[in-house]
Amino acid sequence: MGERMIIVGGGVSGLTAGIFAQINGYETTIFEKNKVPGGLCTGWQRQGYTVDGCIHWLLGTQPDSVFFRAWQAVGVDLTDAHPFEMFYQLEDGDTRLVWHSNLERLEDEFLTHAPEDAARMKRLLADARTFATLDLPIEQPRDLVRWKDSLQELWSLRSFVRPMRKYQGQTVEEYCSRFQNTWLRRLLTRFIPGEYSMLTLLATLAALHTGDIGFPKGGSLQVASDMAAKYEALGGQLHLGQPVAKILIEGQQAVGVQLCDGTKVSADIVVAGVDAHHLFRQLLGDAHTPAASERNFRHLDTFTSCQVSFGVDADLANEPHTVYLRLPKPVNLAGLENKNMNFRHYCYDTDLQPPGKSLVVSTIFADYDHWAALAQNPAAYKTAKEQLALLTQEQLEKRFPQVSGHIEMVDVATPLTYQRYTNLWRGSYMGWTIGPKEEPVQLPWQHPDLSGLYMVGQWFDSMAGLPGSMLSGRYLIQRLCHRDNRAFAVIPGAVPS
Ligand SMILES: Cc1cc2nc3c(=O)[nH]c(=O)nc-3n(C[C@H](O)[C@H](O)[C@H](O)COP(=O)(O)OP(=O)(O)OC[C@H]3O[C@@H](n4cnc5c(N)ncnc54)[C@H](O)[C@@H]3O)c2cc1C
Repeated sequence: MGERMIIVGGGVSGLTAGIFAQINGYETTIFEKNKVPGGLCTGWQRQGYTVDGCIHWLLGTQPDSVFFRAWQAVGVDLTDAHPFEMFYQLEDGDTRLVWHSNLERLEDEFLTHAPEDAARMKRLLADARTFATLDLPIEQPRDLVRWKDSLQELWSLRSFVRPMRKYQGQTVEEYCSRFQNTWLRRLLTRFIPGEYSMLTLLATLAALHTGDIGFPKGGSLQVASDMAAKYEALGGQLHLGQPVAKILIEGQQAVGVQLCDGTKVSADIVVAGVDAHHLFRQLLGDAHTPAASERNFRHLDTFTSCQVSFGVDADLANEPHTVYLRLPKPVNLAGLENKNMNFRHYCYDTDLQPPGKSLVVSTIFADYDHWAALAQNPAAYKTAKEQLALLTQEQLEKRFPQVSGHIEMVDVATPLTYQRYTNLWRGSYMGWTIGPKEEPVQLPWQHPDLSGLYMVGQWFDSMAGLPGSMLSGRYLIQRLCHRDNRAFAVIPGAVPS
């Protein structure tokens, strides 16, 4: 009890580790390089608009769900989150196809547009309905589940085994390529990279149906500030604008950190809640990269994107909140040939734009190397950003002519923006892209050679995005409590079970 813990990085994983560590009797300090907490879970103010730089959708917005409770435990109350009645609308010329969240409505939509795929599509939606009744056992990491409980769990999950087996070895692209209808294929493959596991698509269909996917009131900035407030209320020391230069090692033991201003701070435990590449190559001086992580750097894929945001003096509230457009001819955008574009507006959240106005955002998959090369020449980089904004604006005005002449704010973020802001490797904001074809991938949570050094965050958990980062922080503290033969508490002062 009372061990001193330093957490490097005040992103969602670092804040979660801090919250549970405080609850469970550690004395913690977080050092975060930026002036605001949250890391990638962020947003920024531009001319009266709050550009949301992260959340497109968040898992955990249905009050009965396990993820809702998990967010609540770290100070994020999703009661007022905006539920998505539809996920998005796909558009090609005059044709429109809507991904309704409700699976019955979605089935009707599919039957109208793609009757030739009725049999396969009905099987997929039936499996999604089965998944919709599943409460994922996320409350503790798999390695802490006792074999007796794990048998019970297996029994309670028996109806999911068949659909799991059916989909787990397939990518989204592979499965969807078997639909004859081009529209159906396009609708289901737009929102994640095609090499993702088909189980991700199934889980998304299911979570949309139950209302467990939505947008938190106030967006990413609010999520981050709620977590930071909870951490500080528990007595955690949050030091913002304090980058760490290196992790101090004595013998084979992590003993603290050295800040960029030269200050050395000692600790019994160091938790790295930062980008994996930055951790191993910079903070540990490239001397202690675990073999498994080295393999991941060489063999696993990553992806990234640019974000172009517009503040528009026009009300788009009556438009679908997200549209994916099929372009009449491909356009070279962000270093890649794009046949599609997407636009999201946030009119449903009054915190993000002034009344009667609209924040509209486009996410464009990007080639990291293209932007890294451009960044060598600041003038060329600036010009490329301006060109990207212009091309995106052209498509925006074609689809929403009412915005022409009313655009009052334009903002462009590139993969280099994410890298500069959080030291993110290759701008890869979802960590590794681990497809179902990969060999079993090891994502170590404790350093194999250095005692006292632990890792949390998106590079060290197999679940992508914010829920995975949040859980990895929680799981670490559960593992430490287990190691120390202590029960893990979720609520301060509660008798742990
Ligand atoms: C454009 C975009 C869209 C996204 N959309 C979604 C979505 O819709 N849904 C979803 O669930 N997820 C989404 N994500 C992913 C999600 O934001 C990330 O997976 C998650 O925030 C990662 O959290 P983390 O704590 O693992 O890492 P990070 O957020 O990277 O946290 C690491 C922290 O460490 C800090 N740091 C780095 N180096 C140092 C240092 N030397 N010293 C001190 N501090 C340091 C960084 O500044 C940062 O605060 C999106 C991300 C982006 C960028």
